[in-house]
Amino acid sequence: MGGRVLIALGGNAMTAPDGSASPADQRRAIGRAMTHVASLIRAGHEVMLTHGNGPQVGNILLKNQLAAHVLAPVPLDWCVAQTQGTLGTLIMNALERALAPEPVRVATVVTRTLVDPDDPAFREPVKPIGQYFGEDEARRFERHGQTWRRFERGWRRVVASPWPVEILDAPAAIALMEAGYTVVAAGGGGVPVVRAEDGTLSGVEAVIDKDLAAAALARAVQATELVIATDVPHALVGYGTAAARPIEEITVAELRVLQAAGHFASGSMGPKVEAALRFAEDGGNRAVITSLEHIGEALSGNIGTRVSRGVER
Ligand code: ADP
Ligand code: MG
Repeated sequence: MGGRVLIALGGNAMTAPDGSASPADQRRAIGRAMTHVASLIRAGHEVMLTHGNGPQVGNILLKNQLAAHVLAPVPLDWCVAQTQGTLGTLIMNALERALAPEPVRVATVVTRTLVDPDDPAFREPVKPIGQYFGEDEARRFERHGQTWRRFERGWRRVVASPWPVEILDAPAAIALMEAGYTVVAAGGGGVPVVRAEDGTLSGVEAVIDKDLAAAALARAVQATELVIATDVPHALVGYGTAAARPIEEITVAELRVLQAAGHFASGSMGPKVEAALRFAEDGGNRAVITSLEHIGEALSGNIGTRVSRGVER
């Protein structure tokens, strides 16, 4: 019997290799991803899943904009909640199919993640979301209170990406897991909510990094391993240079040094490395960053970037 494993699925588990996200692309990618997840379940691991949702939220935002003259746009936290429902459904169908004829019980938890209204991210939104637009459109949306920024390829909306303080619905995920379910939770980093002084919760216009939320969820459910499944087999030192080399087995202290030296790009490998570090530093056994194709071997073999606290002295 293996340990309790949280798998965080990245973009290539839910979209075509070129990033296209038609319904057929999503179904196909998730179907393929679940064959890899199924191998971990067959090996006896207790698996929980979380996933990104960037292209899916982008699709909803585009529909918001195209339909704005007939229907009020839905807020960003609603977009995240919608993708949890849709992707959760696709994952449940695909995982059941991948494990058939073995029966499997799968459940998706619509998950809220608490954020701090005083998080500095709200003062300076930096996370780009949705499609690129021209300057005229960007200026028009700015008049509706949004923040837009010019990038190389055009103008794009930027939103706050606050720190995940607490995965509020983790107890529901734990209860289902203990009842024997393979649980999908905290999709897209969770629906961002803030708590008022009277204790009530409400959604906010933000997106939470799915890898950082995965680390928080993994600790909350007392996972022994966190597997971050992306599109590269390892995190690299010297990424994009001739001297690039893969990181294999590494301690949190060694990885913190590489992180401080700027080896991991913010917005891609950066949050994965931070998530792996947090998980291992907070008492998790091991975090692995590897490609989706390798997650079956990631826990048994010598594949991927394996992060642990290291030898106790
Ligand atoms: P996902 O969508 O799977 O969550 P991202 O696409 O955001 O993941 O991040 C993975 C990408 O990060 C890789 O495909 C690679 O292009 C990029 N990257 C940036 N820095 C590094 C690094 N140091 N080592 C490996 N990949 C890196
Ligand atoms: Mg990606």
